[in-house]
Amino acid sequence: MTISQLSRKNVQALTPYQSARRLGGNGDVWLNANEYPVSPDFNLSERIFNRYPEPQPEAVVKGYAAYAGVQPENVIVTRGGDESIELLIKAFCESDDSVLYCPPTYGMYAVSAETLGIAAKIVPLSAEFQLDLPEIEKNLTGVKVVFVCSPNNPTGNVLNPADLQRLLEMTTNKAIVVVDEAYIEFCPASSIVKQLKNYPHLAVIRTLSKAFALAGLRCGFTLANPELIAVLQKVIAPYPLPTPVSDIAAQALQPQGLAQMRQRVNSVLTDRAWLIAQLNAIEIVEKVFESESNYALVKFQDGEKVFKALWEKGIILRDQHKALGLQNCIRITIGTQAELEKTIEAIKAV
Ligand code: PMP
Repeated sequence: MTISQLSRKNVQALTPYQSARRLGGNGDVWLNANEYPVSPDFNLSERIFNRYPEPQPEAVVKGYAAYAGVQPENVIVTRGGDESIELLIKAFCESDDSVLYCPPTYGMYAVSAETLGIAAKIVPLSAEFQLDLPEIEKNLTGVKVVFVCSPNNPTGNVLNPADLQRLLEMTTNKAIVVVDEAYIEFCPASSIVKQLKNYPHLAVIRTLSKAFALAGLRCGFTLANPELIAVLQKVIAPYPLPTPVSDIAAQALQPQGLAQMRQRVNSVLTDRAWLIAQLNAIEIVEKVFESESNYALVKFQDGEKVFKALWEKGIILRDQHKALGLQNCIRITIGTQAELEKTIEAIKAV
């Protein structure tokens, strides 16, 4: 038996996470991963590396709680939002339980369930990319964790707050509802965090990877009631955040860092409006979906042709043609003005 054959059957069937960087894209314009195009600058103030870091760095927990309008007991810091997803499944799903998610949506709910050997129930979003509540309700038997994403990646829209509330009602005492708010800074009024006090089974995922422009840091959060946070504390691996990471994260959450973040968000919103207006004037663009996030989903007459043509020019976008219901769609991250201009010119040339 080979080592691979010795591994779990569902692991044998998996492929490792592919990022376009690793695929050898030869680009100089990277608009595929919803990162902010410019790195903020930080000095490392903490220079003690011989000791293990704090398991839950106090400055980061307190800083994030203050920013999010919750108490420190409502916060657990994780190695990016991706670790939050995995912890929630690990903590709540027995081997015969399942998770439920609603595609087209973020791919890691499926991947994390698969790697942990947990079955998934799939209830597609409606044509307007909203929750199909009757179908969700019909499928809830055996479901321990429901993942929804608002604003949703890759569609860009926020989920209807009344629907989220109904979802929370129908899952009370049955399942955890995870609302992934990785992109919430681009539409802060839509956050569900204010509902935490009403629903002990609500968990909200956040990250510093998007509006805070710190994707390279790998710092995320789950916000929930203290009882749920205490459950996650039991399953998280020790020391999720390396010392330099928590040092920088704490600085990003201080008033100056928050002010810079808000400025950054404003410039993304301006550039997004420009990009969408330009795209709408191009003949091969069939539809630009409304976005509340730092990317735009665009449907072309021939999406694969556009994706390939731009790839060859070193402009790396995110092809969505394999996502449920998104044939001919491409997701474009709001990069710098210069990158967006280059992208528009290249699309016009297709
Ligand atoms: N949720 C969504 C919807 C995302 O798009 C991402 C990043 N692509 C994440 C969570 C994870 O973010 P990170 O692990 O970088 O914090």
